[in-house]
Amino acid sequence: MGVEKSMRLFEEAKKYIPGGVNSPVRAFKSVGDVPRFIERAKGSHIWDVDGNEYIDYVCSWGPMILGHAHDEVIAAIKEQAEKGTSYGAPTELEVKLAKMIVEMVPSVEKVRMVNSGTEATMSAIRLARGYTKRDKVVKFEGCYHGHVDSLLVKAGSGLATFGVPTSPGIPEDFAKHTITVPYNNVDALKKVIDEAGDDIACVIMEPVMANAGLILPESGFLEKVREITAEKGILLIFDEVITGFRLAPGGAQEYFGITPDLSCFGKIIGGGLPVGAFGGKAEIMDYLAPEGPVYQAGTLSGNPLAMVAGIKTLEILKRPGVYEALREKGKKFAEGIKAAAEKAGVADKLCFKNLESISCVFFTSEMVKDYASAATSNTEAYAAYFREMLKRGVYLAPSQFEVAFVSTAHTDDDIERTIAAAEEAFTFAKDL
Ligand code: PMP
Repeated sequence: MGVEKSMRLFEEAKKYIPGGVNSPVRAFKSVGDVPRFIERAKGSHIWDVDGNEYIDYVCSWGPMILGHAHDEVIAAIKEQAEKGTSYGAPTELEVKLAKMIVEMVPSVEKVRMVNSGTEATMSAIRLARGYTKRDKVVKFEGCYHGHVDSLLVKAGSGLATFGVPTSPGIPEDFAKHTITVPYNNVDALKKVIDEAGDDIACVIMEPVMANAGLILPESGFLEKVREITAEKGILLIFDEVITGFRLAPGGAQEYFGITPDLSCFGKIIGGGLPVGAFGGKAEIMDYLAPEGPVYQAGTLSGNPLAMVAGIKTLEILKRPGVYEALREKGKKFAEGIKAAAEKAGVADKLCFKNLESISCVFFTSEMVKDYASAATSNTEAYAAYFREMLKRGVYLAPSQFEVAFVSTAHTDDDIERTIAAAEEAFTFAKDL
């Protein structure tokens, strides 16, 4: 089937929406293809407006851990919609979801709901600055924490995709408070903390990097970061917008046994509706208005539709065996893709990463351990692989610097078909 309708819609979209999309990577710019306009989705599959069907490994960039339009989640949303969609007043639903998050995530004693991951990191940083009365923020190169002014410095995701080191529109005066260090490099962090420790409010990090492809923490790295931040009274913020409720019920902090001071969430806790949250030690969280002096607010925060979708999603995730099954699927997918590359005779040109249900194939023969090594990837080659997979009905992230998500809805058949497609798609890479 063709893509004529998507092409027409994209042309029309560009007249009314900058670049035709509401978030840059969606435009398929770096993979040289036409963005597919999606009409519907169910389980692990999505359908575009031209009637093409795809096995989806973007999963809305992470939220759809149960697959699309999960029957129970949809029923909960419908039931709530009949009762009203926003009140601007507290609800029992907010208490229920907050309690679930506190019970599931080891370090979180109190949590505030917001509307996106960006809002979560922005607010967590303001809180860290207000609480410590310090201005500087340390982040890691290639970590993406949303489009917060002070965090769009050496960031991943769309900024890695488009090679924009930072964005115009951010005053030097803001950016100068942000210090960046390479991931997996304890010495670099130590040096920064030795020099400026008393001025540093927080270190914010994705405990597992998933916005520059997938980059795992080396053994002992997270422990060291925790240790040296605690020594200087610097708050450690885990941005668990991707890892939260995915690597384990309690996210990366449970998975690796590290206790951050604050954590940021999004994606999964909204079950596919716009949501974010940040939480942590009660003593720090109580610094927020109206209890404390740090201001933070939102007209739609704690939105009842988002709350019911989040509650139902977490309820389902908590059922016995769900994470084990997800891990098996993630492993089957990642190992299958690697085996496909071996069969195609190109495995030595690639670097494979996998953790639970997240994975990534870097088109580089280097061992990827930080942003600089990830950036050695041949993005043209990734683009060709992406297009070949799309032709075969597999919808991967339209950028080398993103990851593949497996959901509980992906079947053995989906994964086997994907692996067969990859074996064919990889053959082109022989000539690289
Ligand atoms: N933090 C991380 C780790 C993310 O991956 C993202 C989005 N991909 C964000 C923050 C920002 O979330 P949002 O797009 O909901 O603002």
